[in-house]
Amino acid sequence: MSAHSIAGWIQGIAVVVTGVVLGSLVGGLVGAIIGGLVLAPFALFYGRAVKQGEVYTGDGMGIWRFLLDATWSSLNTAAGAIYYGSHMLFGHTFNVDKTRGTGSLWIDESVSDDYATTIGTVKAGSNERIDDHEMIHVFQARLFGPLYLLLVGLNYVIATILPYWLLFKDRKPVTGFGSYFLDGVYPHVWNELWAYKYAKKPAPAPAPPTAPAPA
Ligand SMILES: [Zn+2]
Repeated sequence: MSAHSIAGWIQGIAVVVTGVVLGSLVGGLVGAIIGGLVLAPFALFYGRAVKQGEVYTGDGMGIWRFLLDATWSSLNTAAGAIYYGSHMLFGHTFNVDKTRGTGSLWIDESVSDDYATTIGTVKAGSNERIDDHEMIHVFQARLFGPLYLLLVGLNYVIATILPYWLLFKDRKPVTGFGSYFLDGVYPHVWNELWAYKYAKKPAPAPAPPTAPAPA
């Protein structure tokens, strides 16, 4: 068995174990069994992708990313596995070449035409112009582990009901209901403020349909 194969198996097992733990918190033994069973098919496809994409090969960071993703950040890994599986159900393309050694998984198609979206280690719709931004989200998930999705979700709720971002001077004007979220809420949650500030600046040209903006 190759190292990539073992990496895939261990990440897959981490996804199932996360399902078992979450399930047991909700519904005891029955919950644990259901949680494991629901996550198992996602874990299979995700583990296979980790192997095929040689996700953790390359520079010296690979082993640390691997260990974090299987332990501290396993909730994000499980969320990423569900996200990955959902993309595959829609016939989207897992890009092995753009995945290799990056510590993340690259899916060519995005959820929406206008935005790339990253969950856990899985990036969908990224491109060379914005990948640095998406990789910051992958890093944030590893750093905050089980708290990451919670803290991001909480910030979306707060930014929606308490629009503190109206005080930001350089923000885009809000022109309607959709714009309230896209120009107001979304760019002003903590993980996006961070990613927009520190990602290498993309060319200022407006994004063509084939190059979605970061999300
Ligand atoms: Zn973003």
